[in-house]
Amino acid sequence: MAVSPLIQQLMEALRCLPGVGNKTAQRMAYHLLERDREGGTQLSLMLKKAMEGIGRCSDCRTLCETETCSLCASDRRDEAALCVVENPMDVEALEQATDFRGRYFVLMGHLSPLDGIGPEELGLGMLGARFANEDLKEVILATNPTVEGEATAQYISEMAREHGIRTTRIAHGVPMGGELEYIDSGTLSHAFSGRRDLS
Ligand code: ZN
Repeated sequence: MAVSPLIQQLMEALRCLPGVGNKTAQRMAYHLLERDREGGTQLSLMLKKAMEGIGRCSDCRTLCETETCSLCASDRRDEAALCVVENPMDVEALEQATDFRGRYFVLMGHLSPLDGIGPEELGLGMLGARFANEDLKEVILATNPTVEGEATAQYISEMAREHGIRTTRIAHGVPMGGELEYIDSGTLSHAFSGRRDLS
């Protein structure tokens, strides 16, 4: 039986979601069409609204719908400490797991020359400007404990050193190859408080 072109297109569109292959996309499409038209309509409206309305914070690059995110805009954060993470979800994880009250910088990835991701793509120019212009006492490198995350931490550590800023790296306990967002908060809290100076 030929599937209607529109259903086919809906299934193809759903496949842009992580972990969704043909079979799951088919199940999702039919579920929405058969059982939850209201939910499907709401989803489409929210997707459009979010895709058009959410941008990047001009200070830390995290996702937000205002010029600067609420964290950067807050005057109750410690301006002397900056924590560098790979993803916006890492900010949430650290906020929940630790008592860190400094500010963040979100790379939106890690250095990966083979994928064409260099310092430019990670906003390191912007980060360098913060190193130069702000009175930072500590830069905490909380990139993932993967090969790429370590290389990225080293690179940023050298940038910070040029400005005479102390850099620390979150301790392991975070398993090598792990990603912060998937680590339980106890382990993350421990790794964060056990951070060490990078030499
Ligand atoms: Zn921000």
